[in-house]
Amino acid sequence: MKVKHIDHIGIAVKSLDKAGKFYTEALGLKVHDVETVTEQKVRVAFIPITDSEVELLESTQEDGPVAKFIAAKGEGIQHLAFRVENIEEALAELKAKGVRLIDEKPRMGAGGARIAFIHPKETNGVLVEICQRD
Ligand code: ZN
Repeated sequence: MKVKHIDHIGIAVKSLDKAGKFYTEALGLKVHDVETVTEQKVRVAFIPITDSEVELLESTQEDGPVAKFIAAKGEGIQHLAFRVENIEEALAELKAKGVRLIDEKPRMGAGGARIAFIHPKETNGVLVEICQRD
């Protein structure tokens, strides 16, 4: 599998508007877009930096994965995403290597990416996503 670079870092926040201020006002970065991903029960603010981005994640519902993350651990880094050239190949290779996956098949993520999560038990507690953008 070819891992190209860190695609994004997902940060769970209570409020996109409040959290975004650090990135825009203190760091001088720009929020490129805000998108609601209904399936993930989340609103996402994209803050690009070179070929990676920070994604601020705000839950839209109390039972969403981001709301549960914040309830358990507080606001903070929720996942790390690596961009791969071919997500089907990457998933097949990980499976063949015995790596436990949350998603055996890619699903749609924010920004039109196809994404899949690896089980955090395999990654020292870090929720790792692989994603492909065409
Ligand atoms: Zn992500």
